[in-house]
Amino acid sequence: TQRFIWPMAQFGQIINMYQRARASAERIFGLMDTPARIAENPDAEPLSLDGGDVAYEHVSFSYDDEPILDDVSFTVDGGETFALVGPTGAGKSTVLKLLLRMYDVDDGEIRVDGQDLRDVTIQSLRQAVGYVSQETFLFYGSVAENIAYGTFDATREEIVEAAKLAEADEFITNLPDGYDTEVGERGVKLSGGQRQRIAIARAILKDPEILVLDEATSDVDTETEMLIQRSLDRLSEDRTTFAIAHRLSTVKDADQIVVLDDGRIVERGTHEDLLAEDGLYANLWAVQAGEIDELPQEFIERATQ
Ligand code: ADP
Repeated sequence: TQRFIWPMAQFGQIINMYQRARASAERIFGLMDTPARIAENPDAEPLSLDGGDVAYEHVSFSYDDEPILDDVSFTVDGGETFALVGPTGAGKSTVLKLLLRMYDVDDGEIRVDGQDLRDVTIQSLRQAVGYVSQETFLFYGSVAENIAYGTFDATREEIVEAAKLAEADEFITNLPDGYDTEVGERGVKLSGGQRQRIAIARAILKDPEILVLDEATSDVDTETEMLIQRSLDRLSEDRTTFAIAHRLSTVKDADQIVVLDDGRIVERGTHEDLLAEDGLYANLWAVQAGEIDELPQEFIERATQ
């Protein structure tokens, strides 16, 4: 069977062409490196979870004076998978940063199970939301400590169990000191795919109601890619999952796909809906599948307006 993935290199090429004329200087920011510019409301209450429904209502946001998101609205029911697709710089990471409350919205509101993010304690929110990316920070300490980060009472058995579910146990046991191997800056260097699986194990252990996946693809081999996919599928099952999606399997099976372009939602629906719509999404796929050679001019023109 043919394996469908949406390789970044190829996708990036299409997108590059698509937005070449936009000439915006792209910056890559690690989600967790962003300084928090928010203050806790003195009346904040712990988040009270009830299924993990998430609603964005007319959300607008600027970094300093540069408008990034414009009137973004969507709702995600508890347990659903929501995929964000769109060109680099469209605002996908920013949408997710707002959910983790790295920043506050300028206009509109974001609610989790009916509660405005600004009315709940930051600690309870971060506890409820797990975040997995390839740029996951590993501190200098053992593999086991890195997996248990955020779940301080985890036993060794629980850590190993989480690593198994994350398809990480095998490479960990092959490290010089297994789970006690020191990693991080001064320790053993792990590959992107290995770091990602540590992050998945960490999230499995944390067991959050809401999961945020930044599927930045690395140069992992097909086998590793498959292992990562399998563990991500396991992790997102039965949780509200937000994914910045590059893999077709994630996008295709998502309950809802939102296509973001220049901070605005331009298309939304399921994979089938969007193919039928024959817009940006459908054309990106057609290029990807080799059905057409390049993106029709109308989309490139739209990007320059
Ligand atoms: P995407 O995830 O779709 O690639 P981002 O949300 O990362 O898009 O970025 C949207 C826009 O916001 C880009 O133009 C980016 O340069 C800008 N941006 C991202 N983070 C910051 C920041 N911390 N300060 C200022 N501008 C930022």
